Amino acid sequence: MNLQQAGDFVRALAAANPAPETELHYTSPYTLLVAVALSAQATDVSVNKATATLFQEADNPAAMVALGEEGVGRHIRSIGLWKGKAKNVIALSRLLLERHGGEVPADRAALEALPGVGRKTANVVLNVAFGEEAMAVDTHIFRLGNRTGLAPGNTPREVEDGLMKRVPPELLRDAHHWLILHGRYVCKARMPECWHCVAIALCNYRDKVRVAPPR
Ligand code: SF4
Repeated sequence: MNLQQAGDFVRALAAANPAPETELHYTSPYTLLVAVALSAQATDVSVNKATATLFQEADNPAAMVALGEEGVGRHIRSIGLWKGKAKNVIALSRLLLERHGGEVPADRAALEALPGVGRKTANVVLNVAFGEEAMAVDTHIFRLGNRTGLAPGNTPREVEDGLMKRVPPELLRDAHHWLILHGRYVCKARMPECWHCVAIALCNYRDKVRVAPPR
């Protein structure tokens, strides 16, 4: 896919959904950070269910530390890897209090220094909470970048770098939302639903599924 086609691909997704938003529920950079940290290998729906009660009890680092690992665990037991995640949420909250006055830093290195926060989580927070042009490559975007030819790469970082170069600058701010939602609901892992894909004319995938299978 050349640069013009890559731009048109993202423009087609943008035209279909002009105001995309993250599906995770949050009320502040801190609650966003916690929600994203909890979302590894879990669906946004399951995270939202857990955080609905968790954030009622603790929506800031001091309250979270006071709640403790066991208290956090009571709310998030239904999501995958909950023990490790509860530990990380307490540890990162403690570090935010110690190093950043309880605020979430708008800085990649400082974010990635927090327990349980990797490049992907930092990118989501930088993009959604602070408006930076950052590309969080999750499993959906990694698949989509490779499958369509939009930004092929062997690692999430290669796909991220490819997208940062190929997505038109004016669309970079929202591109990760469009791509995640497209991968989640249309260009699905097991079978892409090409029959209702708005970007079908621009996609390089050879095995397009052009007709919906009978139910
Ligand atoms: S045409 Fe199919 S494979 Fe290509 S982006 Fe659309 S859903 Fe994905």
